[in-house]
Amino acid sequence: MDATFVRRWMAEITTSVDDQKDYLTQLDAAIGDADHGVNMQRGFTAVMAKLGQTELTGPGDVFTTVGATLISSVGGASGPLYGTAFRQAGKAVGPALTFDAAELVAALRAALEGVQKLGAATEGDKTMVDAFAPAVSAMANEVAGGSPLAAAIKAAALAAEDGMRATIPLQARKGRASYLGPRSVGHQDPGATSTALIFAALRRVADSTFS
Ligand code: ADP
Ligand code: MG
Repeated sequence: MDATFVRRWMAEITTSVDDQKDYLTQLDAAIGDADHGVNMQRGFTAVMAKLGQTELTGPGDVFTTVGATLISSVGGASGPLYGTAFRQAGKAVGPALTFDAAELVAALRAALEGVQKLGAATEGDKTMVDAFAPAVSAMANEVAGGSPLAAAIKAAALAAEDGMRATIPLQARKGRASYLGPRSVGHQDPGATSTALIFAALRRVADSTFS
């Protein structure tokens, strides 16, 4: 994978966020403040504008630029959290011009750690971590077992989706939804949903690139 692969991934996320903006906002209307779709769209619109006007050779620089752009363009909790995730991924990839499956796992692990350090959420708190953590574990297991990259990414995307659905019966312990206490039960977490979209976008790009 190289800078072009990461740019394709970001473009695919942007398309998905544009398509799913109303859905993400509806989910956030139920247990938050109805801005998650708007936040994600604003962030990734800014990301595409920034990437369009920036010459970047390495995939690490692309990730870092994405992270910085999300932090500076999104006001909600998700902006700094996703921004930190992409910045940490960029740092993990470093100056290399390409990265392999194991390095993608390491970058995603660093991204997840960044989210957890900043937001202090663990699995079961009904946040994006509930989709992100199982996705990283699934990909790590596949890569360790010698699966091809596209298969490992597919496993990650499916695990993220399962994790997203598993937020429905949970009571939120972090973020705005936690203010609702038991009334947050029965609703799918918006951030876990956008995380599942991000991994689904990665899967589509990997499928079209590697098969
Ligand atoms: P805000 O909550 O500021 O309105 P968004 O609506 O854009 O921001 O994002 C809400 C999502 O952010 C939640 O659904 C949840 O997944 C995620 N989130 C909120 N707080 C945290 C946290 N402390 N750790 C991890 N994720 C969090
Ligand atoms: Mg919100």
